[in-house]
Amino acid sequence: MLALGLVVAVPGCKRLRQRGPASDETLPAGADPAARRLGPASADPRIYSETRTYMGTLFRVVIALRGDPKTKAGRQSLAESRRRAVDAARGAFAEVVRLEALFSSYQESSAIGRINAAATRKPTRWVKVDQEVFNLILRSKKLSHRMKGAFDITFGPLARLYRPPARGKAARVPTAAKLRAALRLVGSKNILLDYDRVAVRLARPSMRIGLGAIAKGYAVDAAAAVLKSMGHTAFIVDGGGDLYVMGRHPDRRWRVGIKDPYKPSTYFATLPVQGMAVVTSGNYERYFMHEGVRYHHILDPRTGRPADKLASVTVTAPKATLADALATGIFVLGPVDGIEVAKSFPGVQVLAVTTAGKVIMTPGIAKVVKYRAPTPPPK
Ligand code: ADP
Ligand code: MG
Repeated sequence: MLALGLVVAVPGCKRLRQRGPASDETLPAGADPAARRLGPASADPRIYSETRTYMGTLFRVVIALRGDPKTKAGRQSLAESRRRAVDAARGAFAEVVRLEALFSSYQESSAIGRINAAATRKPTRWVKVDQEVFNLILRSKKLSHRMKGAFDITFGPLARLYRPPARGKAARVPTAAKLRAALRLVGSKNILLDYDRVAVRLARPSMRIGLGAIAKGYAVDAAAAVLKSMGHTAFIVDGGGDLYVMGRHPDRRWRVGIKDPYKPSTYFATLPVQGMAVVTSGNYERYFMHEGVRYHHILDPRTGRPADKLASVTVTAPKATLADALATGIFVLGPVDGIEVAKSFPGVQVLAVTTAGKVIMTPGIAKVVKYRAPTPPPK
């Protein structure tokens, strides 16, 4: 669950051409984590920004404050606005903490941990879960269907077959036989749902589910809902590069930078956004090379191999939950099927870079994006 795919507010294209992120004007959502300060931080007195670590990544809340630092009344207004922002950010982060405990697959006690544990025995068992967990699993199952199995939360047994090289040990990648065996455990139709008892069961022993490709987006939406409910109308919630952007920066629209997948310390594109989610999935965040092949963290549930058609996919959508799932699914589907599936969702736009270094996009994004040619893939 990495994917620090995005950066907010890259100031203009000239700068974009010169180099990537940094400087105080940029809000480095997608920058090197070490370069991102934790805690409240913003050079501009009209912006409140706070970053904390959750869900294995950095979550950030950025709120545009009301007031003018040049006048006395304006400064008072800013101070009051800032107090409200501090409270709201606290509420938003509390919401992320709550959801992390529900959705983590690492915590045995989480709903997902219990569902997986109940599938380690034969026969597998039903597990009662919170309605909210049930709903997100149901949603994932439906989305899997609409994305022809390219997005599938039952990918778990496949992920276990890959290990990056560590402590002198060589990387591990599966044999064809191992892949075949694991693929029998993949498929959302084997997630059984009992609507009346609000319970979930994985039909086949050793199945595993993981919400890594959708839970962060869900948490971003939930955090944004908290900010809205507390009266904020201009903010960004950034869950490790999964963004929801509302209203405007005090001077202009919020801008989101999209990382250059083959040179991820820089951006190749910026998007002005307002009132929508922007989520990127890329092959550059977590990967290892083995015998000339890039093994990264998004697997094609239909073949069990790392998806190899696209290097990065950015999706804009009304909600981050949908954008997150779509970015992962489209990444697997590739440029042709991916764009086709995207078109079947109202309000969804896509910007992608293929593993050959070609940029593709839907018409709605083409109208607003500023970009340069991304760095070509290494030979
Ligand atoms: P990130 O977490 O880096 O933002 P994604 O949203 O694309 O990126 O999610 C990738 C994570 O989703 C993987 O780390 C893994 O846990 C899970 N995953 C991998 N492949 C798939 C897939 N085809 N469908 C659903 N989940 C997947
Ligand atoms: Mg995703």
